[in-house]
Amino acid sequence: KRHPILVGNWKMHGSRSSSVELMSSIASGVSMRPVDVALCVPFPLLQLAEETLGSSTVAWGAQTLSENEDGAHTGDVSARMLREFGCSYVIVGHSERRSAHGESDEVVAAKTRTALQARLTPIVCVGETVFDREAGLAKSIILRQLDAVMSTLDEVERERCIVAYEPVWAIGTGLTATPEQAAEAHGWIRSRIAEGSAVAAESIRILYGGSVKPSGAKDLFSMPGIDGALVGGASLISESFVAIAAAA
Ligand code: 13P
Repeated sequence: KRHPILVGNWKMHGSRSSSVELMSSIASGVSMRPVDVALCVPFPLLQLAEETLGSSTVAWGAQTLSENEDGAHTGDVSARMLREFGCSYVIVGHSERRSAHGESDEVVAAKTRTALQARLTPIVCVGETVFDREAGLAKSIILRQLDAVMSTLDEVERERCIVAYEPVWAIGTGLTATPEQAAEAHGWIRSRIAEGSAVAAESIRILYGGSVKPSGAKDLFSMPGIDGALVGGASLISESFVAIAAAA
């Protein structure tokens, strides 16, 4: 049985002065919940996350990393640095990175491998745009993004990944995918992974992301194959995030 996991993606939000309170309040709110919880925060807040969450049940991570080990890569942050600040997770291939930073499928695959080599758990994001969906291309886009990563990994590495299905049209728009739409896409993803390895397909956790709110969380998590959520906006409000954790 896969253990549910709820991941907050703070994106470029949070501040040094407000984050300790938000982190602490989330940590105390979810402490008794039988769900894995992690917060992926901006790089400058990682040390605060380590200090604040270190003695809690909440793990932390980053929102991207460099595919390179080290060297002359101005502005980039390495997997080793993330490990040094106690990160367990790192988001890779978020649609905002793909679109605003031109991250290709190949780059996302390379970042995933770098994360795995550093013993970080990559949360690999895939998802179609509204144009893809309206053109009937949702499945093929999602599977192209998934294959680009999974085809470069061996079975053990695949099992160590988390996949997040985040339809671009649902991110930050208030338009959540229906539980049925999400479950259908999760089914596409899991079946594709099963073609390579039944064991990996059985164990890998697939999260839904895109305007997840406390209302509707229960319905979402009751769908087969939805193992948790990657939460943006609602992870910045302690009560909302804790309520979503309670539904998981
Ligand atoms: P929202 O929950 O704000 O829609 O963001 C989703 C997301 O992109 C999480 O990675």
